[in-house]
Amino acid sequence: MTIDEKAAKTLDELGLADSNGVGELFAEVRAAIECEVDSFRRREASDSDSACEAKTLRDRWLARGHGLIAQIDQNWLKATPKESRGMVGAEFNRLRQYATSQIDVDSLPGARKTTSAARGEAARGPDLTLPGNQRELGSIHPVTRVQRELEDIFIGLGFRIETGPEIESVYNNFDALNIPESHPSRDDWDTLYIDSTTLLRTHTSPVQIRAMRKHGAPLYIVTPGKCYRNENPDATHSAMFHQIEGLAVDTDITFADLKGTLDFFAKKFFGERTRTRFQPSFFPFTEPSGEMAASCPFCGGQGCRTCKESGWIELMGCGMVHPDVLRHGGIDPERYSGWAFGLGIERFAMLKYDIGEIQNFFQSDVRFLKQF
Ligand SMILES: [Zn+2]
Repeated sequence: MTIDEKAAKTLDELGLADSNGVGELFAEVRAAIECEVDSFRRREASDSDSACEAKTLRDRWLARGHGLIAQIDQNWLKATPKESRGMVGAEFNRLRQYATSQIDVDSLPGARKTTSAARGEAARGPDLTLPGNQRELGSIHPVTRVQRELEDIFIGLGFRIETGPEIESVYNNFDALNIPESHPSRDDWDTLYIDSTTLLRTHTSPVQIRAMRKHGAPLYIVTPGKCYRNENPDATHSAMFHQIEGLAVDTDITFADLKGTLDFFAKKFFGERTRTRFQPSFFPFTEPSGEMAASCPFCGGQGCRTCKESGWIELMGCGMVHPDVLRHGGIDPERYSGWAFGLGIERFAMLKYDIGEIQNFFQSDVRFLKQF
């Protein structure tokens, strides 16, 4: 059976069901194209004959409607049942690309000159009426987008960005932050240890220790980055997530500075009408410690599904840096004081874009990512 005869039948009629047979069939078509283009190039014909033959070859394969590629599209691809269309489609796209690249009238010998002569052009430039090759642009990931937005607010306040390694020492991740060995987060269930002295950082707080040791006081930094915990993935938990923490160390820093800065931040991020609320909490690395909540940006505090009818949304933990933590960072707590906060970037992105599942961020589904 010739290629022409095969192109007129469906894959079913050709008795091809499995992917091997289909792959071989497409390979056979590509070989036929190669062979025809090859013999065309070898013929030593006059320019006008050559141009005519180039057109015949092009029409035979690429003519709309009745060319072999169009027939293959119609009889092989479109007639294939949905289940196997993906595989046949991939083969077909490869074939079509191959055919158009091989049977390009302008690049076949003899063709170009005559075409330009026939059109009476001195030199033929690119045809500007043809559609261009479209290359799809990517977009910035929503987590990165929100991270930059958060960073920008603090950079505007005079903070500087500081980053650190994701593989940390147990000392920087826990001991220096006043997290005693008995603290539950040291348990294996939460922390991914590499060995007895090294781990994947569970928060970005070790960057605070590194920055204090490196730069000393006064210090105004935010520390965005990835963190890791041994969590089972669900709607709001992921084993890898992003945090951003802030640290301000200077003389005469008080809780009022913390409240003023974070209230300003919440208004910048969620809108001018946002109100904030601070409640006491406990963290080993701050004393006193607090939780900051903002009035719900969706209902303005009236109560809705997102804020679970409370009118408030918990945003972050914060507090005055524990004197021992300053000491571990090489800063004299008698002279300096500081405040710090830490928040999850995914949570802010979920609030900002009304996303219900944290897993959406990490599944690389283009239909999701295209929306940003
Ligand atoms: Zn609400």
